[in-house]
Amino acid sequence: MSNRHLEPEEIVALAAATASIAVSCECARRPYAGWESLSPTFPEELLERVGKVSAALDGELRVEEYHPEGTNLWSENAPIALNYYPANRCEVWQCRHCQRCYLRYTEFGGYYVDRRMRRLQFELVTLVE
Ligand SMILES: [Zn+2]
Repeated sequence: MSNRHLEPEEIVALAAATASIAVSCECARRPYAGWESLSPTFPEELLERVGKVSAALDGELRVEEYHPEGTNLWSENAPIALNYYPANRCEVWQCRHCQRCYLRYTEFGGYYVDRRMRRLQFELVTLVE
């Protein structure tokens, strides 16, 4: 498995190439259109890590979110802004079976660890600085 830094153009290309996948798959029983906590029954063995969104260290990553249209973190139509939280700390994972791509990160709260996932959706990816 790879954990190299992916160029933004690579991520956009991956999103474009996988945008029209419609085949049914165990990974897609839920759409993961917005950020969701990973279901305990999600078939993680299907996913393979492609790489990470940012080359920066955690402490250097921007903590602001990007919501010019009034969306929030959980909105299904929230932009996937690669330079903003939380996309900037994500890894890209791809299903070996259907090729769908997902962004994943782990939220470390005071008393919890929440593993979150969202489908990489071409129409929502934005490269705004
Ligand atoms: Zn799949």
